[in-house]
Amino acid sequence: MGHMTFTKEPYPWTRVFSDPSPRPKPCLFLDRDGVIIEDCEYLSDPENVRLLPGIVDLMALARQKDAFIVQVTNQSGVARGYFTDQEFIAVENRLAEKLSSQDAQRDAVYACPYHKDGQPPYQHAAHPWRKPHPGMIYAAAEDLNIDLGKSVIVGDSARDIEAGLQAGLCQGLHVLTGHGERERVAALRFQRQAYRVTTHATAHAVCRHLMSSWL
Ligand SMILES: [Mg+2]
Repeated sequence: MGHMTFTKEPYPWTRVFSDPSPRPKPCLFLDRDGVIIEDCEYLSDPENVRLLPGIVDLMALARQKDAFIVQVTNQSGVARGYFTDQEFIAVENRLAEKLSSQDAQRDAVYACPYHKDGQPPYQHAAHPWRKPHPGMIYAAAEDLNIDLGKSVIVGDSARDIEAGLQAGLCQGLHVLTGHGERERVAALRFQRQAYRVTTHATAHAVCRHLMSSWL
């Protein structure tokens, strides 16, 4: 598999691997750190990329249900100067290798390096891509033709769950991996009638839940 190159235009930090669907398809949106891989606090070393238990099964379930799989990740470590965009790309390449060795593939990756306390060019007061804003989800919907009302998001942070609400998804699934323990109470505040927020220990539990409650 070739290494990814991240385009800078029209938005930075985007990689779309799949063609858009002719009809709108549902999507499994996944946060990266604390959901797909272990959260290492500003991960910059590809050696520290470790898949979390259950994530490969969860991605296989989404495929079985004919849903897209899209990663949406805040990466303010770039704006804060903790790592470079090249280091981010090296981590993403390692992740892509690890996933493809398990027959798991993402259809697109969106990352937002902007932060209000960041350094130029990544200083931004409230970038529309930075979760809890729904910009990355909207971009994916446009790039792939996603039916947002039938789509779900899995996150360890409350802002992942809030982004799903803001984007009009039907379910937010909060996990205890990553920052999950300290974010759980906040995540549950985004429960609505049309946006069910459920809590799970790991991606394994998310997989079991979605098997019967989604699509
Ligand atoms: Mg996270």
